[in-house]
Amino acid sequence: MSELVVSGLRAAVGGQEILRGIDLRVESGQVHAVMGPNGSGKSTFAHVIMGKPGYDVLGGSVTLDETELLDLPTWRRAQAGLFLALQYPTEVPGVPLEDALVEAVRARDDGNVDQVHERLANEAARVGLEARFLDRPLNVDFSGGEKKRNETVQLGVLRPKIALLDEIDSGLDIDALRAVSRRIEDETKENNLGVLVITHYSRVLRELEPDVVSVLRMGRIVATGGPEMAEELERTGYAGYDDDDEGEVAPAPSRDAAADPFADPLL
Ligand code: ADP
Ligand code: MG
Repeated sequence: MSELVVSGLRAAVGGQEILRGIDLRVESGQVHAVMGPNGSGKSTFAHVIMGKPGYDVLGGSVTLDETELLDLPTWRRAQAGLFLALQYPTEVPGVPLEDALVEAVRARDDGNVDQVHERLANEAARVGLEARFLDRPLNVDFSGGEKKRNETVQLGVLRPKIALLDEIDSGLDIDALRAVSRRIEDETKENNLGVLVITHYSRVLRELEPDVVSVLRMGRIVATGGPEMAEELERTGYAGYDDDDEGEVAPAPSRDAAADPFADPLL
């Protein structure tokens, strides 16, 4: 059993405080969804937990099974069992996926790379990523959807304890969305993966069923509830969830759902 515990996390980027005191927990087997409008700090939150350079941590802590992650470089956080699927996966010319995964597995305690090749093929099949992508340089000239499937394949091979998924649903068509979210849901059951799923839209949460939903606005968690909150947010937008601590004027209701080019027209 693992637990990621975020307490009082504050962080700045470009001299501006973006995360203004976040408390949140995710444990093994659990899916915790963080929803929020554009610019609320969702990606910043994921990046700061994983240790992406360029952010200044101003306070608080992030622990995985009582190890303080904020003191560790990113690769140590990964070694401790944390995984981040990026909103905008990085292109890595010259490095095929399998090479990257072999090195990642080798750097872990168990370090057994014998099965990487077979697992990679198996994971690609599970999310419908064609085998020809596996030999190409990582993410180079992949479509948005291929990048997201590729992130999911990495997760399946690496089997982290806790996964942060930053808009894993963006750019996926309906079939790919279903395959990716089912794959991750299966991982919570088969290997007790804990998931922090960051998204604008509740549709990913129909297959990847959240136990807890939190709303992030202006760098703070302003509401936490059960799975029903995701559907409600889709209907009402985020404007009802004010961060009234500092008397800020709430922006106009989100039109994200209506503007989403990937939304399922049948829903
Ligand atoms: P979200 O993922 O919720 O859309 P982000 O975490 O990407 O939001 O961004 C939160 C805020 O931080 C935005 O106002 C954004 O413009 C700002 N921000 C993010 N990265 C940088 C950066 N490198 N420099 C300056 N501002 C940034
Ligand atoms: Mg983002």
